[in-house]
Amino acid sequence: MSFDLLIRGGRVFDPSQNIDQVMDIAVTDGKIATLNVPPAAEAVDILDATGKLVCPGLIDIHSHVSRDLVSLAVDPDEAGVLAGVTAVNDAGSVGYLHLHPFRKYAITQARTDVFVFLNVSPFGEVVLPETGFDIIDEAAFLATIESNRDVVRGIKLRAIAELIYAVKVDVVEMAVRIARKAGLPLMVHLGMGFNEPVSSDEIDAFITRLLGRLEKGDILTHAFTDKPGGVIRLDGTPLSGLEAALARGVYLDAAPGRGHINFNLARAALQRGFAPYSMGTDVVQLPDEQPHFYNVAAVASKFIALGMPLKEALAAITCNPAQMLGEQGKRGSLQPGMLADLTVLDYCQGEFLFHDGRAGNVIPGNVFLSPQLTIKNGVVIPVRESISKHIPEKTMMEALLMK
Ligand SMILES: [Zn+2]
Repeated sequence: MSFDLLIRGGRVFDPSQNIDQVMDIAVTDGKIATLNVPPAAEAVDILDATGKLVCPGLIDIHSHVSRDLVSLAVDPDEAGVLAGVTAVNDAGSVGYLHLHPFRKYAITQARTDVFVFLNVSPFGEVVLPETGFDIIDEAAFLATIESNRDVVRGIKLRAIAELIYAVKVDVVEMAVRIARKAGLPLMVHLGMGFNEPVSSDEIDAFITRLLGRLEKGDILTHAFTDKPGGVIRLDGTPLSGLEAALARGVYLDAAPGRGHINFNLARAALQRGFAPYSMGTDVVQLPDEQPHFYNVAAVASKFIALGMPLKEALAAITCNPAQMLGEQGKRGSLQPGMLADLTVLDYCQGEFLFHDGRAGNVIPGNVFLSPQLTIKNGVVIPVRESISKHIPEKTMMEALLMK
């Protein structure tokens, strides 16, 4: 039997199928052919993955990849195949008015598969805080979704304080209405500024009302933020309405970025059973970019350090985000017939330090997942060195944190 590619001898870890064992994988025509590879099988290419972790292609549910359309965004492949990630979801960089140029100048040119959660604001994050809520043409919004169903998989709303005091439209109701009409999930950004002209009681009431409007499949991103407008307090206790929302099937997404997580809060939340279902990165472009903020495998490593089991952490960057994007039949798993999208990682063991960015907490960990190769539609692509060679070893991180 002959295949296009054989991936030999790796520790295959596929949470969707409860697989964690050394085995070979055969790929043909850009799809997974079989995991029961005959010993005498031949292939055009053979990849020796001995000693490596081989997973379904990693998926970043919260990225910003609209490239030059939004000043903070990066190139899809920079967050994608060059970082060990085979699919990225842009979480609200653009609104319905800019989807066309986003498709034309970024999505179609990327090797990475790109999905989009359209911002409720017609201008997306071209202007921050978002604006233009009062000029939304809902029919045009829905028509844009309809003709771009292949990439548009959700709606994004930032639950910022301006929605309480500065906007005349009920943006929450509008976002919910558009999401329901389109049959797409609503992703809500949590976390407001620290000095907004609204009281904490007003903010809590606003978020609790919002939580009451969320349904199965909707997503709370930056779930472990310690900013005003979060849903979990520092001691791990939930805001009123959170538990009911989770019971209805609302998901928590981590998306720590550089300023959207507090490790103390996250640890307390995990102890109370509030685990992230997905772990986007919130990748953006910043001058002092450090890879451990902006790679889903690094985010998973942080949650492993916080006490999450490896299987759950890997599910949160493979099969779970695939399901959230409505792609569960196609990716996020190594079942035969799925896209031959895989990530080959080093499973590093040692003494590592992780920091949470703005909140200023540093925690030790002894596992670091480091992407080395991306396999996209059966084609092997090396991960760029700033990611593949970056390991947050304790001594190196101590020196870095002293600065
Ligand atoms: Zn974001």
